[in-house]
Amino acid sequence: MAIKFADRMEGIKASEIRELLKLTVRPEIISFAGGLPAPELFPIEEMKVVAVKVLEEAGRQALQYSPTEGFAPLRDKIAARMGKVGVTAKGNDILITTGSQQGLDFAGKVFLNPGDYVVCESPSYLGAINAFKAYQCQFIEVETDEDGMLIEDLENKLASHDNVKMIYVIPDFQNPTGRTWSLERRKRLLEAARKYDLPVVEDNPYGELRFEGEMLPSIKSLDTDGRVIFLGTFSKTFCPGLRVGWVCAEEGILNKFITVKQGADLQSNSMTQRELDMFMELYDLDAHVEKIKEVYRQRRTLMLDTMKQYFPEEVTYTYPNGGLFTWAVLPPELNARDLMLKAIEKNVAFVPGGSFFPNGGQENTMRINYSNMPEDLIVEGIKRLGEVLHEAVNA
Ligand code: PMP
Repeated sequence: MAIKFADRMEGIKASEIRELLKLTVRPEIISFAGGLPAPELFPIEEMKVVAVKVLEEAGRQALQYSPTEGFAPLRDKIAARMGKVGVTAKGNDILITTGSQQGLDFAGKVFLNPGDYVVCESPSYLGAINAFKAYQCQFIEVETDEDGMLIEDLENKLASHDNVKMIYVIPDFQNPTGRTWSLERRKRLLEAARKYDLPVVEDNPYGELRFEGEMLPSIKSLDTDGRVIFLGTFSKTFCPGLRVGWVCAEEGILNKFITVKQGADLQSNSMTQRELDMFMELYDLDAHVEKIKEVYRQRRTLMLDTMKQYFPEEVTYTYPNGGLFTWAVLPPELNARDLMLKAIEKNVAFVPGGSFFPNGGQENTMRINYSNMPEDLIVEGIKRLGEVLHEAVNA
C-alpha cells in the first residue's frame, strides 16, 4: 500500500517516550509518570445521585444535541468561578470544550499557519507541543527560572524572529516544573505581547490547587486589550474523565474558537455538562477542591522529604507550592531516558524530561508526579528511584 498521509503527520510521529510510558501501566509499577488525579477522591456516590437527577429532571435535553458554546447554566457558573483568578466574566465569554486539551488544539487551529512560531517556556507541556505541531509550527523556547520566563530572553527572541504568532504559557504550577510565575514576570510578559501585538494562551489547569501562599493574579486578569485566551478545566479539580474544560476570551477571538468547535465536534457532551452543573447545584465544589488540596499537599511534602533523604546530593529539584509535579535536574552527563529503563526494572516510573523541550535537549531532567500514588507507595517508589540515581551518579 502507498497511501499518502498529510504532510502534517511528519511532525507528529509517535514518540519513543509514549512507547516507554505504555510499560508504566503494569499494576506492579509504582508510577510517578502520569499527571493523574487521585482516583480515590472522585465523588462517585455524589455522581450517582447527580446522574439520576439529571436524567429524571431533564433526560430528553441531556441526551439531545445542545448549543456549541455549551450549557448556559454551566457557562454562568464557570464565568463566576473566573473571579477566583481575578477575571470578571459573563457566561457569554465562556466556551465549553472537551478538556482544556481541545482548547489547545483550537488555539493551534485558530492562530497557526505552517512555519509560524509559537513562543513557549523551556520546558513546556508536552500535550500542547504535540497539539500545536499538528499545525506544522516551529517553537521558540524561552529560558525560565523559578519566577517564570526570563523576559530579556523573551524580548531578544521576539525581536529576532518574524513570524511569531502566539505565546503559550502555564504560569501556575507549571507542567512539567511545578513552578509559578511572579507577578512582575506576568506583567512584563503582557507588555512584550502588547509590543509585538501577539495573543497569549494562558493554560491554567493547576492554579486552584495551591497548598501554600496567596494566589497570584492570572495574566488574563491583567489583560486590558483582550489578547489573553484563558484555558481552564475541571480535570484536576474534579474528574478528568468527564472531559470538561473551557476557553475564556474576548468576543472576537472566542467566536473563532466557537466556529472551529462546530467543525471539530459540534458541542461537548450534553449529559456531562449537565452532570457537572448539577453537582455544583447540589454539592460544594470548593469543599471538594479543599479536600483534594489537603491530600496532594501531604503527598507533596512526603515525596519531597523522601527525596531529600534518598536522592543523591547531585540531583536538584523544585519544591512546588501546588499542582501535581516536581521537576528534577540530574548532573548533565546523565540521560533520564536510560535511567527510566533501569527504574522500570525496579518497577518504578517517571517521565524523562527531554520531551518537554520542543527543540530537544536537556535529557538530564525528569518529571515526577505526587498526586496519584498513595503515601506508602510514594515512599517505596522514591527509595527505589534513589537507588537508580545513586547507581548512575556513582557509575
Ligand atoms: N494543559 C496542561 C498544562 C496540562 O497539564 C493538561 C493535562 N495534563 C492539560 C492542559 C489538558 O487537560 P484536560 O484536557 O484534561 O483539561
